[in-house]
Amino acid sequence: MTMDASARVLERYNAKVFKNRKEHMLRINPDEAQQITANTRAIPGIMTNRGCCYAGCKGVVLGPIKDMVLITHGPVGCGFYSWGTRRNKARAEEGEPNFTQYCFTTDLQEPDIVFGGTKKLKAAIDEVMQLMNPKTIMIAATCPVGLIGDDIQAVATEAEQQYGIRCVAYNCEGYKGVSQSAGHHIANNGLMKRVIGTGSYEPASKYSINILGEYNIGGDGWEQERILRKIGYEVVSVFTGDGEIERIASSHKANLNLVQCHRSINYIAEMMKIKYGVDWLKVNFIGLEGTIESLRHMAAYFGDPALAQRTEEVIAEELAEVQDEMAAAKARLDGLTAALFVGGSRSHHYQGLLKELGVRTVLAGYEFGHRDDYEGREVIPDIKDDADSKNIEHITVEKDEKKYHAYLTQEEYDKLAALIPLEKYDGMIRDMDAGTFVVDDLNMYEADKFMEVLKPDMFFSGIKDKYALQKAGTLSRQLHSYDYSGPYAGFKGAVQFAKDVCLGYFTPAWHMVTPPWKTRATLQGTVGEK
Ligand code: SF4
Repeated sequence: MTMDASARVLERYNAKVFKNRKEHMLRINPDEAQQITANTRAIPGIMTNRGCCYAGCKGVVLGPIKDMVLITHGPVGCGFYSWGTRRNKARAEEGEPNFTQYCFTTDLQEPDIVFGGTKKLKAAIDEVMQLMNPKTIMIAATCPVGLIGDDIQAVATEAEQQYGIRCVAYNCEGYKGVSQSAGHHIANNGLMKRVIGTGSYEPASKYSINILGEYNIGGDGWEQERILRKIGYEVVSVFTGDGEIERIASSHKANLNLVQCHRSINYIAEMMKIKYGVDWLKVNFIGLEGTIESLRHMAAYFGDPALAQRTEEVIAEELAEVQDEMAAAKARLDGLTAALFVGGSRSHHYQGLLKELGVRTVLAGYEFGHRDDYEGREVIPDIKDDADSKNIEHITVEKDEKKYHAYLTQEEYDKLAALIPLEKYDGMIRDMDAGTFVVDDLNMYEADKFMEVLKPDMFFSGIKDKYALQKAGTLSRQLHSYDYSGPYAGFKGAVQFAKDVCLGYFTPAWHMVTPPWKTRATLQGTVGEK
């Protein structure tokens, strides 16, 4: 009964909602143009899974940078609920601080809303300087800040002059844009304008790279760095999992940018190419095949036979360690089906890993992906900004004559671009099978309904969906927090993922949901006979 799955989901909506939601759903048909509507306003009251601009800016991109203090300017809720809930792990560097375990907030009260909150923000900065003495402070605005007109940019400038530190304010009020995505963009702009290009760290190797859009959830970034270092790469910076401000400031000196999460960081990747000449390569370190392919593409980029040979040696070593466990997991999971609904990149990345385990994806969607994440970057010129996204600042950069350095000649670049995804991302849809479903901004009702119709064996989503789905009898693994497990990236991560899925799917409790007295007679005996 998969023929009419989206029609059956849509049938309960009134005409207006039906028309809107229909455009956010697609059944894959490779013979037709595959266009989807995305990055538009969520329908009020529909129980979207989305978050806000502040979450995308503070929670996702800036929050993981470990050696700076990030002050949430607003009432206490925003900072409190985003305190320690995203598992972007960080370890302090020798002699350096790690502030990621703290929540700094100005905790605005009624008088601050009435008379303005900048005084309180200044006092918070003074206190932070006294107690923590960081070299960088960042400020993230929440909803009321924009409405009452607090000039946080002026406060930041003043703090820089007073303390001789770097202080950057972000106007990432929650109502901007339509989702977390606006916050990614605002954070990218701020990092590009104020941080990247200012550092003095000098990479020692010509195989110097940055990993962009990797937030070290459950140690994913560490597993990638382990593999890359083993091959011989120098990781100059990671944006931003376990990130250090000085390394991010020096990232323009690296020779290649790797882009893991395209949605959250493509702006910086593009701007670094224009301003500093650093090429970017789309990678995917989720799944064995994704990891191997990404490593081979990197070796092709640097074009050194010794590096390519070392890459193959490391791949062989790592595979030897994990392939038995992967095969065992595949034997148990083969033939199952999955649905994936995650933020803006994982719904694509994990499909490959699931396939390696014999699990077929029947539905996938993003909370806040744009059309290019679904359909590929070539549609970018056709995407029109709507009224909801027009208030997000678009910045343009120019070539920095002094710091510009291109690793490849134009000729080498052109040759390679035909072979590896240099500045290219094909999106999720192309990797999906005919007949499967893509749903953008899936809501709670739709998740329930699709589950009823498509009956996937497992549903990968977030904390808000997890228990509703499991109450309905379907395994739900969280692909934001990894259910407090991980890493899931790289070779070792693939095995960890496989083990977690097996543990979840084969949990004996699934067979104990129906009490025995509903399936068996509780009294046994005969009537009227001896
Ligand atoms: S929507 Fe506004 S109030 Fe809610 S978390 Fe985001 S910034 Fe805070």
